[in-house]
Amino acid sequence: MPASRRAKILYKIAQLIGERADELILTEVRDNGKTIATAKGELGAIVDCFEFYAGAATKNYGATLPPPIATYLASTVREPAGVVAAIVPWNFPLLLASWKVAPALAAGCTVVLKPAPSTPLTALALGRIALEAGLPEGVLNVLTGSTRELGQALVEHPLVDKVAFTGSTATGKIVAATAAKTIKRVTLELGGKSPSVVFDDADVDAAVAGALYGIYYNAGQTCEARSRILLHAAIYDRFVESFVDKARQLRVGDPEDPLTHVGAISLPEQFEKIRSYCEIASNEGARALAGGSAAHPGGANAGGTFWEATAYEAEVGHRVAREEIFGPVAAFVRFKDEAEAIAMANDSEYGLSASVWSTNVGRANRVARAIRAGTVAINTPYAVFPGVPFGGYKQSGYGRELGMETMALYSETKSVLTYIGEKPINPFGL
Ligand code: NAD
Repeated sequence: MPASRRAKILYKIAQLIGERADELILTEVRDNGKTIATAKGELGAIVDCFEFYAGAATKNYGATLPPPIATYLASTVREPAGVVAAIVPWNFPLLLASWKVAPALAAGCTVVLKPAPSTPLTALALGRIALEAGLPEGVLNVLTGSTRELGQALVEHPLVDKVAFTGSTATGKIVAATAAKTIKRVTLELGGKSPSVVFDDADVDAAVAGALYGIYYNAGQTCEARSRILLHAAIYDRFVESFVDKARQLRVGDPEDPLTHVGAISLPEQFEKIRSYCEIASNEGARALAGGSAAHPGGANAGGTFWEATAYEAEVGHRVAREEIFGPVAAFVRFKDEAEAIAMANDSEYGLSASVWSTNVGRANRVARAIRAGTVAINTPYAVFPGVPFGGYKQSGYGRELGMETMALYSETKSVLTYIGEKPINPFGL
């Protein structure tokens, strides 16, 4: 199919998703337990993602190269990578599916989309929308099921050319090792323990508001959750007092209530993980300044799993300040100067994202440059947009999604060389 036709179908998918926004938002909320406000924001980003890659489909250019020999024409073409296995987790089911499906289709690939076992509904809806938008049958396939073997089988399958995986670092290592057996192309978007770094010259009110969102958005079940809040000693007390006061005011509960800030913990095992990390935090001597326990909103949600917006005063060595919890749990750590802030920010096996809060433009950019993470946001908690590459350093993965460069990761580059000389080439002279 020519790229221009693929572009039209992707635009149509974006349009249909926009038209069915209310239904898709409610499905995601009920499947996942996230708040309606969060799901609304995601839906807009999903439409933007399909529109961005609709535009990208016709711009996946090859190049005309300087001829290596005067009598040669040399060029490259971008061809589809082939069959893509797109494997996604449960925290942003449709959003993370769109980050993979949109560029894959734009590049001309076919896709087997495997949603997480607990959140398959919007992936199925996307499959139906794609057919309605004119995508031929068999181009986007949605494979649901609850066994781990399903993902494993896809990664092993000889007819799969590329694996685009988002999930935990532990599973990512298995995926990379399995894919290596057949030299599949792999993109890995994995875990994180991202910092918000707040300097003494920051607008503290803005930093508090941004840091609150950075950790409690989607109940902290976010790969780029800014779960380490590194604070300059001079503003530590002021920041913590204001943050804790606001954290206690966050409304935890009914995901379908538009006023809710923090929705449900999606899975019982995730709830258990958060509970156990809070227990570890207390046992290791971190001090709970907010939350630390299950929340009980009652009413229609009495049977659900909810966790209070939680914050600990911690030290760099505490596990609550080092390991990915994937829940609404922040750890405050104090630093004394810029060099120590950078060292702390980088003292992690992860490198997905970071926020830097400072009104000193030189310092903010120096620190952004020194932090080893795929995304650094200065004076804002928002940093994820179609067109802006997203992905990790270190054990947060490799490859980038959402960018124009992502198109290359769903393509093969073929070099085509043409001899244009008059005299035939006869290397052996026979
Ligand atoms: P997970 O690794 O358990 O599962 C992710 C997906 O992989 C699911 O669809 C699962 O069924 C599948 N899977 C499981 N075993 C597999 C195997 N052996 N081979 C192939 N596929 C397999 O992760 P999760 O608990 O669903 O998601 C949470 C994790 O995802 C967190 O660590 C979070 O940081 C990460 N995450 C990363 C990003 C990012 O963009 N970097 C975004 C969201 C979530």
